[in-house]
Amino acid sequence: MLAVSKTRSPDELREAHQSGQTAFGENYLQEALEKMEALADIADLEWHFIGPIQSNKTRQIAASFSWVHSVDRLKIARRLSEHRPENLPPLNICLQVNIDGEDTKSGCTLESLPGLVEAISELPRLSLRGLMAIPAPDQPESTLRARFRSMANALKSLKQDFPAAGPLDTLSMGMSGDLELAIAEGATWVRVGTALFGPRPPKGDQS
Ligand SMILES: *Cc1c(COP(=O)(O)O)cnc(C)c1O
Repeated sequence: MLAVSKTRSPDELREAHQSGQTAFGENYLQEALEKMEALADIADLEWHFIGPIQSNKTRQIAASFSWVHSVDRLKIARRLSEHRPENLPPLNICLQVNIDGEDTKSGCTLESLPGLVEAISELPRLSLRGLMAIPAPDQPESTLRARFRSMANALKSLKQDFPAAGPLDTLSMGMSGDLELAIAEGATWVRVGTALFGPRPPKGDQS
């Protein structure tokens, strides 16, 4: 389980860590960097970046996180690889797929995955772990199940077609509202925020 800790205070993360949680997911770079500093005394925290990535942020993201779940284009992957510091292991990444096929959403198409995977497999400082998706939550269970299933199938074919591209062992899918369904369809990371920490403040109230 990835604890999604956007809007949560360092003390809330500290408390979750005391209960045994070590992996935390953050959406906003500045907010994440502040928490990393506040929690620098804890040695075994693992930070995952799960938000939209602007290309001018790749240097700091590559230096500060163990995982990035939200890579959706080659330009960003190239920059993350270039900027990953030599003293750290390769950066674990997932490709974010726009699984509902909505124009407005971030993520690459299923069709573009083979080309992306082939190109990313050449990047020395990345470890291509798998795929990530955020299906729209307000869909019938049967649709959600079908979305998760196409993610699992896509990962399986990539593994067959590009055996040397990376571990390809990861499906990052499922959130508070649909995590059981995602796990049943093969999720290896569920990204859980509200079910763990309680409701988030409404958007306008975030500092
Ligand atoms: C906020 C967020 C989550 C967690 O959502 P909950 O519904 O609070 O569990 C998971 N993944 C991403 C990418 C998010 O932005």
